[in-house]
Amino acid sequence: MPARAADDLQTPVQYLKGVGPRRAAELAAAGVQTVEDLLLTLPYRYEDRARLRPIRDLRPGEVASVCATVLSCGLRTTRRPGFRIFEMLVQDASGRVRVVFFNQAFLRDVFEAQQQVVLHGRVDRRPTGGLQITNPDHEIVSDEPDEDGGELVHTGRIVPVYEKVGSLTPKSLRRVVHDALQRLPAEVADVLPETVRRGLGLARRRDALCEAHFPPPDTSIEALEQFRTPAQQRLVFEEFFFFQVGLLLQRREADTRVKPRRILVDDRIREAARKVLPFRLTGDQRRALKEIVEDLQRARPMNRLLQGDVGSGKTIVALLAALVAMENGLQVAFMAPTEILAEQHYASVVRVLAPSRFATALLTGTLTARARREVGSRIATGASQLVVGTHALVQGEVRFKALGLAIVDEQHRFGVVQRATLRDKGLDPDVLVMTATPIPRTLALTAYGDLDTSEIRERIPGRQPIGTLVRSESRRAEVYDLVRGQLRAGRQAFVVCPLVEESEKLDLKAASEMAAELQQRVFADARVGLVHGRVPAAERDRTMAAFAAGAIDVLVATTVIEVGIDVPNATVMVIEQAERFGLAQLHQLRGRVGRGAAQSHCVLVHASRLSDAARARLRALAETTDGFEIAERDLELRGPGDFFGTRQSGVPIFRVGDLLRDHRLMEEARRTAVAWLAGPEATEAQLGAVRRAWTRRFGLAGVA
Ligand code: ADP
Ligand code: MG
Repeated sequence: MPARAADDLQTPVQYLKGVGPRRAAELAAAGVQTVEDLLLTLPYRYEDRARLRPIRDLRPGEVASVCATVLSCGLRTTRRPGFRIFEMLVQDASGRVRVVFFNQAFLRDVFEAQQQVVLHGRVDRRPTGGLQITNPDHEIVSDEPDEDGGELVHTGRIVPVYEKVGSLTPKSLRRVVHDALQRLPAEVADVLPETVRRGLGLARRRDALCEAHFPPPDTSIEALEQFRTPAQQRLVFEEFFFFQVGLLLQRREADTRVKPRRILVDDRIREAARKVLPFRLTGDQRRALKEIVEDLQRARPMNRLLQGDVGSGKTIVALLAALVAMENGLQVAFMAPTEILAEQHYASVVRVLAPSRFATALLTGTLTARARREVGSRIATGASQLVVGTHALVQGEVRFKALGLAIVDEQHRFGVVQRATLRDKGLDPDVLVMTATPIPRTLALTAYGDLDTSEIRERIPGRQPIGTLVRSESRRAEVYDLVRGQLRAGRQAFVVCPLVEESEKLDLKAASEMAAELQQRVFADARVGLVHGRVPAAERDRTMAAFAAGAIDVLVATTVIEVGIDVPNATVMVIEQAERFGLAQLHQLRGRVGRGAAQSHCVLVHASRLSDAARARLRALAETTDGFEIAERDLELRGPGDFFGTRQSGVPIFRVGDLLRDHRLMEEARRTAVAWLAGPEATEAQLGAVRRAWTRRFGLAGVA
């Protein structure tokens, strides 16, 4: 029965050979549940093992693949203490070569004599003469009898190389994918409408799936790596096409929807807004507010993106919109990407709304069950009009009495996908997404075509542009002098250290050591504080508050201060190991200073050796303070990485396509989707199928 079941693309991967419950769980954690999910998880690289090189022909300096037999192998210690080399001697029909691995002692338990191995790596000259392959990618091919009817899976062809998933190595994934493809029935239903497929001359789905994993001989490796083969393009197009049809359906349906409420703006409401406003809005702020309030008054729900630099004054605009909704008897959900940011937003929302008659609540995962219940009941009865939290706010079981407006900070994805969740819960609020990392125009139009946008580009009056310096670590003394000068003038400084999950322990240690060093040796007269994500919330709040009150002069922090904190007297931002940050992130951090009238500085301190990419990033930041321009540069510099993926909390939306690399296909998908929806083929039955495919692919409640 499992053998037959695997014919169906919707079959759970667990029924594939070599995938038991444990691996199925690991795959599920990576978003791979069905055979279809598996087959749409494409290799990140291909290796031409059809063109394995005879060892005799290897040349120093090249990167090559060889297939050889292990003659001997073992660990070698060196004179450097703790430094060990694992070395092998391998042989093919043409000759022998040494293979050297640095500091990978565990390989001793991996390799043994007589194994047949494929090695892919750089060929170097040995210090003692002759050649060696250094730290190659490796795969043992021989201990697996050929079970595939004579078809080689791991060698003798172009083979796919996958990202490791849990305990599934690239090789075991190759085996599993190969098996899944072998079991595909001769006919696989094509999810693309046939006219669309033919009209564009796209490959059939079955062929595309097979060839994207196991390319036919003579496929160009370069084309594969650039995702330009017909098989890959077809799969990307498919993904983008459904995405676009989904967006268009959403838009079409939104245009006909009528909110179950009317929002009105009268003099009383204008007066209430004036009461909370401590300053005059800039022209851009006024225009953005006007656009938003017009949307609020419209019959159809708003879906708007508010773009503007850090500190350009988006939050106050959003809160004024919130006030309008609340004055109309509606509730507002204000969502931040993380709990820390939610806490920070909460503090400033409470401050701004203090002169109003509305009650604000904070709902985060750190609340006790009892506190959660209490907050939940205040939301349900309408006693709290504004609720700050993370996305859990709309995804969990929180019930609103009358949710009218959802404000979302820094989550582009929200506008596209999560609305469907809200709608499914019977809520259909106006949605305002705020971002300080604007989407480059080309991408915005194609990928987020369902959003209206407002922009704030004008600087708040009295603010001077921040001066940005790029300095190597070796010039640290100079950097400290600059900071000292500011401290003497009564100003305050941030020193930010990187913190990433993979090296959290080390990073935390570095931040603590930095704080100690600055306090003891560098700024002995100043008061130095330290905050990071592991500092208990209460203590962190005390430290932040002390910094805001001027009782701390230098705040050493990990990126927890990225957004939210507002201390106008802070005029220096030193970013340590700046090369480890992304461009958008650096820009965000820089936005923590320059919030008062005084000239502010940002110093990017970097390691003395810098990759070209990192250098370009730091230079770009020094050259401009305009977030819109930085977004364009970010897009350019990042290459075919994911522009949206890492910065946003969740999984990237697309698993085959890449907005950057494939943006032309996205444009084509949009055109095609518009035409197809307008044509006779887009029947209710077809649309039903599209909706189902969309739901499966994008994993949420579906569209419209
Ligand atoms: P953003 O949300 O865009 O990062 P904020 O709304 O937090 O920016 O605004 C940054 C700071 O500038 C806040 O302290 C805010 O009170 C202040 N601010 C906003 N708009 C103005 C304005 N028009 N005039 C003076 N200060 C302003
Ligand atoms: Mg902000």
